[in-house]
Amino acid sequence: MAVPFRRTSKTAKRKRRTHFKLQVPGMVECPNCGEMKLAHRVCPSCGTYKGKEVVSK
Ligand SMILES: [Zn+2]
Repeated sequence: MAVPFRRTSKTAKRKRRTHFKLQVPGMVECPNCGEMKLAHRVCPSCGTYKGKEVVSK
């Protein structure tokens, strides 16, 4: 239910926001170079996907 924002204390607001994700989801470690990359995407640092080089660097 919507509540006027001054009715929610700073503490209550901050406690609720502790559950917000701190990191961008879907980040995985590249098996080739170990850099963090988006899942199901070509690695931007080494240009590989599924163990094969797709984009030359
Ligand atoms: Zn990589």
